[in-house]
Amino acid sequence: RPVIVWLRDDLRLSDNPALTAAANCGRRIICVFVHDEESEGLRPLGGAARWWLHGALQEVDNALRARGGRLCVYRGVASAVMPQLAADSKAAAVYWNRRYGAGERRVDEAVKTALKTQGIEAKSFNGHLLYEPWSIKTKSGTPFRVFSAFWRAAHEAGEASQPLDVPSRLNLFHGPCRQASTPRVELADLALEPSSPDWAGGLRSNWRPGEAGALAQLEFFLEEHLNEYADLRDFPGRLATSRLSPYLRFGNISPRQLWHAAEAAANAATNPGVHRNLEKFRSELGWREFSYHLLYYNPEISSQNLQTRFDGMPWRTDADAIRAWQLGKTGYPIVDAGMRELWTTGWMHNRVRMVVASFLVKHLLIDWRQGEAWFWDTLVDADPANNAASWQWVAGSGADAAPYFRVFNPVLQGEKFDPDGRYVKRWLPELDGVSSSVVHRPWQRGSKVEVYPERIVEHDFARQRALDAFKGLG
Ligand code: FAD
Repeated sequence: RPVIVWLRDDLRLSDNPALTAAANCGRRIICVFVHDEESEGLRPLGGAARWWLHGALQEVDNALRARGGRLCVYRGVASAVMPQLAADSKAAAVYWNRRYGAGERRVDEAVKTALKTQGIEAKSFNGHLLYEPWSIKTKSGTPFRVFSAFWRAAHEAGEASQPLDVPSRLNLFHGPCRQASTPRVELADLALEPSSPDWAGGLRSNWRPGEAGALAQLEFFLEEHLNEYADLRDFPGRLATSRLSPYLRFGNISPRQLWHAAEAAANAATNPGVHRNLEKFRSELGWREFSYHLLYYNPEISSQNLQTRFDGMPWRTDADAIRAWQLGKTGYPIVDAGMRELWTTGWMHNRVRMVVASFLVKHLLIDWRQGEAWFWDTLVDADPANNAASWQWVAGSGADAAPYFRVFNPVLQGEKFDPDGRYVKRWLPELDGVSSSVVHRPWQRGSKVEVYPERIVEHDFARQRALDAFKGLG
């Protein structure tokens, strides 16, 4: 009797506890993916994430085929498909790595119950986090709302375990995956990639989804940028961050792998500041952990303010302003460069994400949920925990959030973090030839920059309007 490994947000073979457990039982392994767009409570993926998923599934299938197996792909309500598959294939057990959203947990619980009723073993593992949400608690046993305290407690809980290697012996199923009652589909049938128009050219030229791409990207980061991470991570023109977020999102690599590989690289390095860089990098992984902690204890985080007093915020309706923001035509170079980077590559630098999000919420006074939805659709790393938690952080409505009254000035942010204008010029060819002294305030250039848009709102006015709206909340 085989064991089924149900792959979801863990599209890799290394450090995959469910796969390793299956390998250790010595049974034949069937690797399965179920594309579930029907179960209640599962948020449909955005366009860029669907593109990534396609590539990552393709890569898992390739990796399994290279080891004599294959990925069996199905479509439908997972809580019906999985127990049916298990019965049809006479499986002894189904293993998977855990997910933390409320809808996902409901599906997994239903599958577990159905399998147990059928007398089939169901076992889940932690493949996605360093610390699962319930394992880190305040002294009084409640969830954390403040990052620094959360991260301290995580440290006290002990170091994340070492990552697992790809199992050396994988007895993989390679048959046609044709079960009696569940129709198998080809990956292409899922239509995850755009067809017409094919807008994914920029994604294809910037990314290589899947485990091999993740490991190559990690190696590059550790060799080239870990040593300067703490000092340069805020400068979008320097490309000094790891760019591993979409790989983490889809589990093409695990946080345990990053944690330990970064430590090994730091230990091998000789420069004195390397441990400061290591700790900074690890604390960013910590923010990801904190987001998952928040998601687990606040399942409505992508749709409801964590601080309910923000429910009374007088958000504006302004379709033209939203469109200008989405298209990168607000007239503020750092905002526009970020939004065009996002549209072209499916990714944006963290500092710039904070600036564009602040601009939408505070300068335009538009509900953070509209920004969250746009990011959800356009980011290759669109993450159920990180995206919502970060938007709420910027909006001021989140846990441990930036105070609402701190309004980023997009000109000063540009001048501080992109002093030579390298980043904005990369994405805004209109500003070619504009001197760095005015590149973040092109309206002050002696002669007008003809093709670059006028500012859609003036900073001092917008700032005051935001502060007034906030004061009105009481
Ligand atoms: P690195 O600096 O190399 O960090 C390594 C990893 O740590 C990242 O890959 C990521 O998993 C995690 N990380 C880094 N910074 C943060 C952070 N501030 N919060 C949580 N985790 C972090 N990140 C996503 O993964 N998905 C999202 O959908 C997402 N939406 C965001 C929306 C807004 C408005 C903002 C301000 C931030 C958002 N982030 C999101 C967090 C952060 O911007 C990205 O994780 C980061 O830019 C990814 O780049 P990197 O892999 O080079 O990061």
